[in-house]
Amino acid sequence: MLRPMPPEPRRGAAPIKCPVCRAPYRSPLAELDDPDSALSCHRCGADLTSLIQLHDQAIGYHRRALQALQVGDYPAATAWNEQALTLHQNADFHTLRGQLWALQGQFRSAIAAWEVARRLAPQHPAANAYLQQLEQLASQQIGEEN
Ligand SMILES: [Zn+2]
Repeated sequence: MLRPMPPEPRRGAAPIKCPVCRAPYRSPLAELDDPDSALSCHRCGADLTSLIQLHDQAIGYHRRALQALQVGDYPAATAWNEQALTLHQNADFHTLRGQLWALQGQFRSAIAAWEVARRLAPQHPAANAYLQQLEQLASQQIGEEN
């Protein structure tokens, strides 16, 4: 059986890129001295306020999804995670989507979600670990059949 992994400790916000110049957004936590500059792009000065608000909202939904997952409420976890995904495309969210599919036995959908996560973040540790786990599982099953 595929053993579900515990959710990873959150690393907080995934990188946001400026929609104008694609510069990575610097977290306001690093720039508390100057809160006005924290909500604009450090490179081109574009206003990122609404982008960041949407992202924060998405992270909030994702946290609720993780809480629901921890108590085994997969439908609620799925609903919260889908809400997060409508606001923001993030490898963590797609990884969780895959995890939820796998927990409900939907391995094809799980693999598709993890592959999206891996496209968004090629080094994503959880997405890669899950895919490897499933590949191992698949090769073991083939071995048993032969
Ligand atoms: Zn910019």
